[in-house]
Amino acid sequence: MGRLHFLSHEPLAPRTSLELGGPAKALVEVSTVTEMAEALEWAKTSDRTVWVLGGGSNVVIADEGVEGLVLVPALRGIDVDRSGNGAVVIAAAGEAWDDVVAETLTEGLMGLECLSGIPGTVGATPIQNVGAYGVEISDVIEWVEVFDREAGTVIRLAPQQCSFGYRTSCFRQYPNRSIVTRVAFRLRADGRPVIRYAELERTVGSGGTPPDAVTVRQAVMALRRGKGMVLETGAPRSVGSFFVNPIVDAQGLAAVEKAAGNGNAVPHFPAGESLFKIPAAWLIENAGFCRGYRRDSVGLSEHHTLALVHHGEGRTRDLVALAAAIRDGVEQRFGIRLRPEPVFWGFPDSDPLNGGAR
Ligand SMILES: Cc1cc2nc3c(=O)[nH]c(=O)nc-3n(C[C@H](O)[C@H](O)[C@H](O)COP(=O)(O)OP(=O)(O)OC[C@H]3O[C@@H](n4cnc5c(N)ncnc54)[C@H](O)[C@@H]3O)c2cc1C
Repeated sequence: MGRLHFLSHEPLAPRTSLELGGPAKALVEVSTVTEMAEALEWAKTSDRTVWVLGGGSNVVIADEGVEGLVLVPALRGIDVDRSGNGAVVIAAAGEAWDDVVAETLTEGLMGLECLSGIPGTVGATPIQNVGAYGVEISDVIEWVEVFDREAGTVIRLAPQQCSFGYRTSCFRQYPNRSIVTRVAFRLRADGRPVIRYAELERTVGSGGTPPDAVTVRQAVMALRRGKGMVLETGAPRSVGSFFVNPIVDAQGLAAVEKAAGNGNAVPHFPAGESLFKIPAAWLIENAGFCRGYRRDSVGLSEHHTLALVHHGEGRTRDLVALAAAIRDGVEQRFGIRLRPEPVFWGFPDSDPLNGGAR
């Protein structure tokens, strides 16, 4: 326990991309699995709830902050194993995700380029199965190493054991069970990147020689910048997409089309057998919330209606109230209840958009 440095009443807002929320009653950064085990033991004996914080780019923290212990996995290291086909890149949980993407491209490896520019840490990528531009992290995961809190040991999980789905996994469903310590990605050393996303294909050009992975990364970054989906100094703060795109069956799609009225085509994309994904951004916009919409210190991004933004000097409760108004507006207009993408900490209600902040 000697090396652990516990901070009390530590402000959390500066550790999140929204820059909102109150303090943590206690916070500790751990750089080894041994330290992680010690911190967890301390939390157990002092009967504290543990909250695992990476880069804070997908959390909404109540203004009152959180009781318990916020544990920040700061484990570092990136290894490349070229012994098999292609290469396996093993990255520790505390590494910045986009640095890992950049490093794999420097190594001439392909597979992560479409996931360029996503903020946060490696350890968080499996939690909601991060995805962008037609690729999900589960497409390239070889294994996920976690500290199993019940067993008190480190175990390795194959992708099939992680229940990956659209913006979900077993880690998201059972947040108290395990803490990710390392993730291994199987990448390719030859060939060309596979592009599955029409907008990206248009950007890099569909004819002629297929683009290399570095060109794809540059195109993804440019597209993300255009949508305000890169964390940049001076830009309004956000968690990226605030809602996930709803998936409906044929009946559900017909209901939305009916609600939209004649001549108002509802965009949708195949999402499995007889299922369709409807862009939440389209639903939000057509429920009357436009880009740049503002309510004092919070609002919608000027680039994308899916990103709720904080302009500074605001409170979490204002952001949550805006999210609730948007969710309700979409439900009244189209009969679809949007599901928030980020996780919520420190709220008394299991559905924070119902109760607002404490
Ligand atoms: C501008 C912007 C753009 C974004 N674009 C995308 C995108 O294109 N696609 C996408 O999927 N997401 C996107 N996001 C959301 C976010 O960046 C990702 O979900 C990211 O993986 C979160 O990483 P983090 O380290 O910041 O996690 P945090 O926000 O710190 O935590 C998120 C969740 O993961 C858990 N967690 C974190 N680390 C660990 C760990 N080591 N072990 C166990 N649990 C852990 C936390 O407890 C929490 O439940 C975007 C966010 C922003 C701000």
